[in-house]
Amino acid sequence: MIQKNIRRFASEVLEEWANVLDRDSKPLPPHVVREMGRLNIWGIQAPAQYGGAGLDTVGYSIVIEEISRVSAAVGLGVSVHNSVCLAPLLKFGTPEQVERFVPDLASGKKIGGFTVTEPQAGSDAASIQSTAVSDGDHYILNGQKTFVTNGGIGDVFLTAATVDTRKKAKGLALFIVEKSMDGFEVGKIEDMMGMRGNMVSELFFNNVRVPRENVLGSTEDGFRISMQTLDMGRIGIAAQALGIGTAAFEAAARYAMERKQFDRPVGTFQAVSFKLADMKTHLDAARLLIYRAANLKDRSLPYSAESAMCKLYASTTAMQACMEALQIFGGYGYVKDLPVERFFRDAKITEIYEGTSEIMKIIIGNEIIKQFGRL
Ligand SMILES: Cc1cc2nc3c(=O)[nH]c(=O)nc-3n(C[C@H](O)[C@H](O)[C@H](O)COP(=O)(O)OP(=O)(O)OC[C@H]3O[C@@H](n4cnc5c(N)ncnc54)[C@H](O)[C@@H]3O)c2cc1C
Repeated sequence: MIQKNIRRFASEVLEEWANVLDRDSKPLPPHVVREMGRLNIWGIQAPAQYGGAGLDTVGYSIVIEEISRVSAAVGLGVSVHNSVCLAPLLKFGTPEQVERFVPDLASGKKIGGFTVTEPQAGSDAASIQSTAVSDGDHYILNGQKTFVTNGGIGDVFLTAATVDTRKKAKGLALFIVEKSMDGFEVGKIEDMMGMRGNMVSELFFNNVRVPRENVLGSTEDGFRISMQTLDMGRIGIAAQALGIGTAAFEAAARYAMERKQFDRPVGTFQAVSFKLADMKTHLDAARLLIYRAANLKDRSLPYSAESAMCKLYASTTAMQACMEALQIFGGYGYVKDLPVERFFRDAKITEIYEGTSEIMKIIIGNEIIKQFGRL
């Protein structure tokens, strides 16, 4: 039912916007954002009492896959808003923080983001330089963030800053920062290869006074919360990759049955049908890895390595599927009249953000070492 409803919305409403957002590098118009709010897309896992849909993580993955199948850029905004802003607020927030921030986020009245990355701190998140200095009832935030998903349109950002640079990870805290705060500034909107409908931007904090009650968890807890948040987020990125890969596969399969060369559909050549067979097999395997990680999370069991596995596998599969789809489309795959080249451009980043494929292997490897070896 979830899949049917979201698929209908995606094809009836999002489809017409997908190419426009990509071509013009602009965000969804407000009326579509509101309509997504009515469908609970901004509060997929938020409890009904806060205006959300209260779905489990498997349901969440299905929503992200279906949206990303049509517009990966919209899928990215929805995934980040839900899984790395709203979810940690619900999981780690005080009752007051939940009351203050969740209803507006769950309805889409406000859009959320999560910002750790800085010019000098990417994979090594603990080396961030943004500072938070205690000043009475407030912290004074200074620093620069890069590559902030939803940066250009967002209202609420979970922001990592260090209260003590010498302590590295132990000194990292997460603050709930609002666009309306003095000293908050949106910098350059990135001109990207893909995901062009998301206003990924720089953010600057110039002496932003953040009330003490806006610390998420404790000031010693930010790194741990960030890592747990990324475990949740990666299921969303994997579902997004799966949506893109599935769109590429379906387009290629349809085309392969229509396009004739040498008096027969190209899809009946074994060289082409084997490509489709590989795509389908890997995509289904990715879906099962995603559902496994989601199910473990829903049962409150450890799922960090499984989340990394599903993200690693789904993003590699998406990239591979897009490459093969483009090959099946031949020259027509290379031009902008058809969406395959967009799928290809959108897929690449799923191997990079919320932890690169290399970092996913470190997480999985560490789990194996923990189980089978001694460091
Ligand atoms: C479109 C987009 C949206 C994004 N959204 C957000 C967001 O909302 N919030 C946010 O905080 N960040 C966001 N990011 C940042 C993203 O998470 C980082 O780009 C990513 O974590 C990698 O960091 P980096 O780009 O600095 O690469 P680096 O960390 O500099 O890595 C460069 C290369 O070195 C490899 N490498 C690094 N360390 C190791 C290691 N220990 N072992 C092996 N290989 C290693 C990497 O895998 C990579 O191939 C976004 C990025 C993009 C492009």
